Amino acid sequence: MTSAWSGKHITVAGLGVSGISAARALAGLGARVTVVDGGDNEVLRDRAASLAAGDITVRLGAAIDSVSDAGTTLPEGTDLVVTSPGWRPDSPLFAAAAERGIDVVGDVEIAWQLRGEGAAPWLAVTGTNGKTTTVQMLASILEAAGLRTAAVGNIGTPIIDVVLSQEPYDVLAVELSSYQLHWAPSLRAHSAAVLNLAPDHLDWHGSMAAYAADKGRIYEGNKVACVYNVADPATERLVQQADVEEGCRAIGFTLGPPGLSELGVVDGILVDRAFVPDRRTSAQELAEVADIAPATGQPAAPHNIANALAAAALARAFGVEPAAVRDGLRAFRPDAHRIAHVADVDGVAYVDDSKATNTHAAEASLAAYGSIVWIAGGLAKGATFDELVAASAKRLRGVVLLGADRRLIGEALARHAPDVPVTDLDRTDTGAMAAAVREAARLARPGDTVLLAPACASMDMFANYNKRGDAFAEAVLALAAGREADA
Ligand code: ADP
Repeated sequence: MTSAWSGKHITVAGLGVSGISAARALAGLGARVTVVDGGDNEVLRDRAASLAAGDITVRLGAAIDSVSDAGTTLPEGTDLVVTSPGWRPDSPLFAAAAERGIDVVGDVEIAWQLRGEGAAPWLAVTGTNGKTTTVQMLASILEAAGLRTAAVGNIGTPIIDVVLSQEPYDVLAVELSSYQLHWAPSLRAHSAAVLNLAPDHLDWHGSMAAYAADKGRIYEGNKVACVYNVADPATERLVQQADVEEGCRAIGFTLGPPGLSELGVVDGILVDRAFVPDRRTSAQELAEVADIAPATGQPAAPHNIANALAAAALARAFGVEPAAVRDGLRAFRPDAHRIAHVADVDGVAYVDDSKATNTHAAEASLAAYGSIVWIAGGLAKGATFDELVAASAKRLRGVVLLGADRRLIGEALARHAPDVPVTDLDRTDTGAMAAAVREAARLARPGDTVLLAPACASMDMFANYNKRGDAFAEAVLALAAGREADA
């Protein structure tokens, strides 16, 4: 098979899920592919062996990522470098590529270029928080509308595999991280949303301005709608800066009553004043707030109402009828560890939002409850906690701190919430979560919510945020069982 990549020598950086997918796809299109990865362990060697069977060369070892070797470790004759999200833009390999005038792109760029004539358009979502939830809501709505679709990008099947599959998709709901956007210069979505913008991953991007610019790339060349968050003016600025197709509209979403060309909420109803012909004088009812993920048995948190509005805006931009928005939101099931209600014990609700791995997410999470015992701490990734604590102080019944950087949160609490009782567990072992739950139970009063929203990454104590949430849920269930045994 001949293709634009036939005979090209392509170096793929990173032997992870997206790197493997890119390597196989490009080799299948006739490219000569070399995969490089700084690591060298059994898992990587197994992967290398399976790629070698498909005529793909793999180079493992730390030398790949070392500055001194940068010039020589970019394989001789490389025409193009395809990178994986984890690789920093200042990696020596990319410096070596730049020196030789060789382009560096990501898997999303390759996927975009691989789309054939008449391929399914993309409805794209980015933002600091809420991407996965919104993309899954969107896919659920599109399915309810009878469209053949998939939620892809940062989740599920690698995007290149989806684009190359024989499935006749009508439209794709695509989650894009700032890393992926950084390396996807020619991507042109049908419509796109930036949910919110808060400092995160600044070590990777170098500055807030660079991070915002990468997020803003999602709007470039949009055809129908650029969806932004009315409550986050930085997202609207990105729309204003974007070069879009003639006739593409800026569409806001808001938790309040919608203005013209916005989706919003009126008396518990999600309404559309953007995609209705007579929008100056009327609005279209889409769904009730109560239609958002009723399977959870809990009222939707405000940030999930915002996510639902963003998903609805993208679906409406694609021409989806109001009833499908309602049905799709009703069918939506959130992923685990995102505001998941674990149990009620002694009149106290226990909620697992282990996925709140940064301060912006934790602030949204804390805003969803009235009186909270907050379990927080972990790896701060350079974050500061003053804003989060100041915004949430009035809702805190008490706080339990654990993890490597708990002191930073403790200091912010001392400054902004000096009267709130704080228990510092002074522990970073995995078993500390059970102690945290017991301590939180002691601080809580009936009607309160004990909320795990750590505002930090989990890797100081757990393999990942899933394991952290599981440990919390296990401890809560043990607490409930103990209470029953006592009764
Ligand atoms: P992402 O894919 O961007 O990480 P998720 O949908 O997985 O986003 O949600 C991650 C966490 O971010 C949630 O557990 C919640 O704490 C928080 N969150 C979700 N949506 C929003 C939002 N719109 N604004 C702020 N925080 C949010």
